[in-house]
Amino acid sequence: MAAIRGSTFALMTTHVRLLPDEVTNKIAAGEVVDRPASVAKELMENALDAGATQIDLAVTAGGRKLVSVADNGSGMGRDDALLCVERHATSKIASADDIETIRTMGFRGEALAAISAVSLFSMKTCADDAVGGTELVIAGGKLQDVRELGWPRGTSVDVRNLFFNVPARRKFLRAAQTELAHVRQLFAVFAIGHPDVGFSLAVDGREACRLPGHATLEDRLCELFGADYPQSLRPVDFRQSDVRISGYVGLPNVSRTDRSEQYIFINRRPATAPLLMNAIKEGYRSVLPPDRHPCVFLFLEVPPPLVDVNVHPTKREVRFRRPGPMRDAVVEAIRRALSPAGSAPADAGPPVAGAGERATFRPVATNVSLDLLDLPALRAFHYPRMPMAPGAGAARPHAHPDAEAAPPAAPAGPWAWCRVLGQIGGLYVVLETEDGYVLMDPHAAHERVLFEKVMRDLPNDAAKSQGLLMPETVKVSPKAAQRLRKSLDVLRAMGFGVSEFGTDTFLVDALPAHLAFASGISVLLDVANALEQAGGRGASAEAIQEKVAQAACKAAVKARDKLTLQEIEQLVVDLANTEMPYTCPHGRPTIIFTSFRELNKKFGRE
Ligand code: ADP
Ligand code: MG
Repeated sequence: MAAIRGSTFALMTTHVRLLPDEVTNKIAAGEVVDRPASVAKELMENALDAGATQIDLAVTAGGRKLVSVADNGSGMGRDDALLCVERHATSKIASADDIETIRTMGFRGEALAAISAVSLFSMKTCADDAVGGTELVIAGGKLQDVRELGWPRGTSVDVRNLFFNVPARRKFLRAAQTELAHVRQLFAVFAIGHPDVGFSLAVDGREACRLPGHATLEDRLCELFGADYPQSLRPVDFRQSDVRISGYVGLPNVSRTDRSEQYIFINRRPATAPLLMNAIKEGYRSVLPPDRHPCVFLFLEVPPPLVDVNVHPTKREVRFRRPGPMRDAVVEAIRRALSPAGSAPADAGPPVAGAGERATFRPVATNVSLDLLDLPALRAFHYPRMPMAPGAGAARPHAHPDAEAAPPAAPAGPWAWCRVLGQIGGLYVVLETEDGYVLMDPHAAHERVLFEKVMRDLPNDAAKSQGLLMPETVKVSPKAAQRLRKSLDVLRAMGFGVSEFGTDTFLVDALPAHLAFASGISVLLDVANALEQAGGRGASAEAIQEKVAQAACKAAVKARDKLTLQEIEQLVVDLANTEMPYTCPHGRPTIIFTSFRELNKKFGRE
């Protein structure tokens, strides 16, 4: 036994060896680069770290044949150029402590070594103060050539035939189209993260996108997503102790089925963390249904010691030293941005106190020509509208002529001005606004209006309650009855008059005043079901109230007859004054907006 163990030991000691750099680089390369997009990422990060103001990315065959990044940054002299392709060669940190305060994108000194180990790599570079430039050619980690050449300040790196010498890896590359999609997504991340920098993208030799530098984030988003896009965004500007959160969050009408339009940057570095995903979900609770994901463009400024970016070689996933407060800050930043008072211009004074004061609706019938259309419903309304960003109030190109008359501290609204054109399909309400038209689902809109009224009454002890002419009894399932029994206090605080009336049976003799037009039975049944589905433990009183209000408003609206014209008009006014006019409390859209600009495009007028 001892002999065997001894011989194994001997076998191991005599076989341990240090791997040649060529092999370790190949192994390490797998951690840093796995596809053309990750090559593009590393090269663009280096360009940014070098202070470039213009970065040109080009790919051929989705990057399988070529990924090329050219920048006008600081460049390198000959010695640095030769050193930078060695493993752990970096100019960005000198000691482990520096990682704590890292401000650059890179610091591991791995990327160029890794990339040049698994591709045909060439780099042309010239430093600020150098007389001439340097060209470096490396094939599969072996230096082939170094020569001098004339080159402007900056660096250009070409990476051809990625993984040509690692067939196992090359096999995992996907079709050119798929790889290209990853490259495009990455390009968007960089472009959004750095509006000050000019970017271009060429695909298979043709320019696919050119974004001028010195842009604002808003400009950049317009360039990437279309000129109308910012109308669906709300600015974020939030500070809490040493954390700052800025950027934009999307209204529910531009939400997605996946997270592809969530751009998050921590200290300018694209980053994700499960904590942030959770915080975003929470920020949109009661505004978006669980299967929808909002579009967000969030920039977090966090003191570097409080965030650990060294979790993974690709540096995308981060950890926070103080996760709780960080999460709360993100939730609060989003909530404030989505609530109109929170995102009012900074100079607009304190947020308006009562909801009633916000309704600055007044008819301006003189502005509408009624000659051509003989619709009884033609009316013009005048609403204030929230500017896109603090201080952007002047940018209102299509504003109604009377818009200037609106009070300066104008709160949010989906339109500055609108007129009701009528109803189509026996349901949808059509509105013209100052820059397009709106289709409104009156049921969803009504739910939203009622929901906010009910929720707004809650903090007042005297949540208004209205007695029913005929008290009604409701029998529910044993489970629902149990939930209902536990929630009686919450319900009473909300204005429901409910009491137990025998086995699993309850008596309703009052409803919250805003819902008093509905049937007590159907409202209570739906509330009981909602409570049962919500489950018991863990839910905060606020979350329960929200659930109850959602169910109650839905039940109340369901029972409504067709709305009269006057009711529709009132609904349009009420909806415009809600905090979140774009979705019903369950997250379904209330309005679909189409801009004249979009129409012009479709009709080929632009
Ligand atoms: P890291 O970025 O982590 O330092 P890299 O392998 O990506 O590691 O780059 C190594 C070094 O090469 C960098 O620290 C930098 O000094 C230099 N370098 C790389 N790319 C460029 C560039 N585009 N312009 C100027 N210097 C660069
Ligand atoms: Mg780097």
